[in-house]
Amino acid sequence: MAKYIFITGGVVSSLGKGLTAASIGRLLISRGLSIRMQKLDPYLNVDPGTMSPFQHGEVFVTDDGAETDLDLGHYERFTGQRTSRKSNFTAGRIYWEVLKKERRGDYLGGTVQMIPHITDEIKSCIRAQDEDDVDVILCEIGGTVGDIEGLTFLEAIRQIGLEEGRENVCYIHLTYVPFIKAAGEVKTKPSQQSVAKLREIGILPDVLICRTEVDLQDDVRRKLSLFCNVPPHAVIVEKDVTHSIYELPVVLSRQGLDDLLMVHLRLARPPAQLDEWNAMLDRLIHPQGKVRIGVVGKYAELQDAYKSIFEAIQHGALAHGVAVEIIKIPAEELEDDMAADRILSVDGLLIPGGFGGRGVEGKIKAIQMTREHRIPFLGICLGMQCAIIEFARNACGLDGAQSTEFDKDTPHPVVCLMEEQELIQDLGGSMRLGASTTLLQPETKIAGAYGSETIEERHRHRYEVNPAYYDTFREAGLVISGMDGSRQLVESIEIKDHPWFVATQYHPEFKSEPLNPHPLFRDFVGAAMTGSWART
Ligand code: GLN
Repeated sequence: MAKYIFITGGVVSSLGKGLTAASIGRLLISRGLSIRMQKLDPYLNVDPGTMSPFQHGEVFVTDDGAETDLDLGHYERFTGQRTSRKSNFTAGRIYWEVLKKERRGDYLGGTVQMIPHITDEIKSCIRAQDEDDVDVILCEIGGTVGDIEGLTFLEAIRQIGLEEGRENVCYIHLTYVPFIKAAGEVKTKPSQQSVAKLREIGILPDVLICRTEVDLQDDVRRKLSLFCNVPPHAVIVEKDVTHSIYELPVVLSRQGLDDLLMVHLRLARPPAQLDEWNAMLDRLIHPQGKVRIGVVGKYAELQDAYKSIFEAIQHGALAHGVAVEIIKIPAEELEDDMAADRILSVDGLLIPGGFGGRGVEGKIKAIQMTREHRIPFLGICLGMQCAIIEFARNACGLDGAQSTEFDKDTPHPVVCLMEEQELIQDLGGSMRLGASTTLLQPETKIAGAYGSETIEERHRHRYEVNPAYYDTFREAGLVISGMDGSRQLVESIEIKDHPWFVATQYHPEFKSEPLNPHPLFRDFVGAAMTGSWART
């Protein structure tokens, strides 16, 4: 039977609960434990798939095709372990299940209520992770303690504490300790109140992790311990890290967090093996040289909208021991000519995925510049589709070529819907999602990068390169370097006479990890480095 660690958040959102949970996951794995990670989101959307990246950040896609919260990306990057559909549940999905059961008559005419029906459903979602080989289930509750919509989730985890026994369940509360400049002091009151709120629900936290921008002195720790009812050694300080989020597991371990969890959960395991992690950190903190990567996106200025992309670029740089400066270029700005200089100043350009036509012409212009000026280029999903449009218009002379996503009446629909997708109306249902096989053509840049001709990567898109144009593209020098398993759909392209111009229909960024940088990001950054040295 697995043990449980629940992570709740207090005072304010955006404290980095996902990163903290992921770091704890890393520590448990480093102690030889087998774990599962899970995020429960109290909002009503059935999944984040249709939510705007403006509000919700990136949608992370799992191997089994679930569209999930971006925290799952942190979990995978920190632990090196795959998440699945069972790793993320929203209140919407839970209510949906309960309502379906009610319609089917499963409740035999009983009154269906928040407690016990919704709470039971939440508990069964949590316990769904308890498979034979699992030692610990780490479950992060989204939102902030005190939110009305989170109440059923807190009630469910309280009940699990009772049912499993307190030595099998650990409650970690992540809180914020602000520094008030005018008073020159840190304040513990918000944390006290947040813990009081938890205790009202019946949850007594075992560990308090305090997010802060300054060091906390012993008297503050003692105060937090006494008023929040946690032993002094269970008050852990999580000050903003200096260099990288990947320092966090080490920061927590130094304060004995993993030891404390072992004692609480009665788990005897050797100390955390963090040698490989520390070696990675060392390379990250002491880079030799720097590379400048431009990212042209619709939401380029938003940190969270392209989370996995930015991380994967970092990993690519880490593979070469260099630092990376990411230059975020809003696509719409490139629609006016003045902005073009910004493209010429980068060492490599990346265009990530996206939906909708806003900024597409700017992306196409940026791609034309990278192709003509031989700047290393990596296009992903919509980035690849834009590369196809650009190539069609400017290398094949197909004027007005476009994706039917943006213009249904284009004379050259070089990117379009496949027939079977045209019939699907439901926004949540028409996408090609999750991992599938790509067959790579030997002796291409991409096959060289992977060192293999059969790969598995994750997808999230509706539109495809139109097969009617394959020959036209090939004649003009485009290499269709990867096809799907049925050899019908384009999965990747490259341009032969270019230092490094690679684009993929799938999303390689989801599978990159700091201990295991993705080969495409590694080689893209490598090509950008060569270019930057050549230019200086
Ligand atoms: N909008 C494009 C499609 O649906 C690309 C999607 C993406 O970039 N994730 O095919």
